Amino acid sequence: MERTLIGDLGNHTGKPVSISGWVDVRRDQGKMVFFDFRDRSGRVQGVVLPGSSATEAAKDIRNEYVVRVEGIVNKRPEKNVQADRQNGGIELEVTALEILNASEPMPFDISEDTSGIDETVRAQYRYLDLRSKRMQKNMRVRSEFIRRCREYLFSKDFTEIETPLLTESTPEGSRDFVVPSRLQPGKFYALPQSPQQYKQLLMTAGFERYFQIARCIRDEDLRADRGFEHTQLDVEMSFVTMEDVMATIEHMVITVVEAMGYSVKEKPFPRISYKDALEKYGADKFDLRTEEEKEKGILAYAWVVNFPFFEKTKEGTWTFTHNPFSMPIPEHLDWLTKGEHIGEILTTQYDLICNGFESGGGSIRAHKPEILEAVYKVMGFTQEELTERIGHMLRAFRYGTPPHGGIALGIERNVMNLTGETMLREVQAFPMTRGGKTAVMNAPKPLEEKQLEELHLSINGLDAPKD
Ligand code: ASP
Repeated sequence: MERTLIGDLGNHTGKPVSISGWVDVRRDQGKMVFFDFRDRSGRVQGVVLPGSSATEAAKDIRNEYVVRVEGIVNKRPEKNVQADRQNGGIELEVTALEILNASEPMPFDISEDTSGIDETVRAQYRYLDLRSKRMQKNMRVRSEFIRRCREYLFSKDFTEIETPLLTESTPEGSRDFVVPSRLQPGKFYALPQSPQQYKQLLMTAGFERYFQIARCIRDEDLRADRGFEHTQLDVEMSFVTMEDVMATIEHMVITVVEAMGYSVKEKPFPRISYKDALEKYGADKFDLRTEEEKEKGILAYAWVVNFPFFEKTKEGTWTFTHNPFSMPIPEHLDWLTKGEHIGEILTTQYDLICNGFESGGGSIRAHKPEILEAVYKVMGFTQEELTERIGHMLRAFRYGTPPHGGIALGIERNVMNLTGETMLREVQAFPMTRGGKTAVMNAPKPLEEKQLEELHLSINGLDAPKD
């Protein structure tokens, strides 16, 4: 018999069916054994009646066994209908049970919210943690959010393009993760902190509207809303102003979250300058919701604009606040190229805030070589140093690069807002622990001597690592 999904059983009342899935709960009531069965589409109660040919098999089955079940879909007696339950009006009268795979008892209770379980144990058994209702929901919300953003962008003529993972360092304000080259001993790739430079080069290449669901890898201090890896919805557009990018993204976000059943507090999104945000909220991230709106899961977006382009380092030199590839606001372009009023120059950066988190950020870019050069000169780079660092961008800008700008939305931060989670790892399938250890698998770990040799690497100044 062909498999029926549990979620479709309601259409098969009175008929024999075959389902496949997991045993969610087993309740042995002596004469009768009750089960809740679960598959990707839902849950249903099954009952093995006295004298059923499935009685013997039912004895061996425990929670989380994988089973194939044959049975008849029955309407439940009126008094037993559980209106608050999915499939509460029907049950499966089990006629045959086949164990497809057994399961050891769960290392922790996956029928409850698992967020309180010890982090290392959860990470070790992440595949079981992911079976829990909350984690299933979080991963599905994430998938739906990405799917709807993709669909929206395709409908607006964007092209999805992947950019390399083994690349050269792009400054995003964090440390790089580096990968040694075997073919060129002593040289290293950097994993991308973002696809910033490649997406700009795609504008030079004439794609005009690019997006990517991009993995970004940054060696930063791990916090509740930061991990080594995160995913960005990365966007770049040609022939646009700040207004165009902000309008596109605002419309996409509203379309996507409303289609998912969420309400947005204020449309169009309010805008505030960085200076006013600091005065009013004491920070450039703030939560505009009332207590009541928080309870209702309302999404309160806002744009923050007019950030200073540069800030002083501890050493007293200038560095960028957000993105060195940005364009200053048009009124301040002259200051930048002349190297004047550095501390007062404002950038075209726009940050999207939602419910107290920065959920995205981007800018209009410097698309002419002399503007990008001016930025690096302000930061104290000599001509040689800047050629070494961004010479490839300067060259591309000499070959008809259109004016362009873009943005990146943090997928995790957005999904955290949709699900009400406060930790990044609750919306990633296989996140690292706070100590930077991978889920399920055992990284980082030492390389074998042979691999070190192949890479011409030797580990100095460390006692031999133990695991
Ligand atoms: N590259 C920036 C970031 O990763 C986003 C952007 O400016 O498009 O934050």
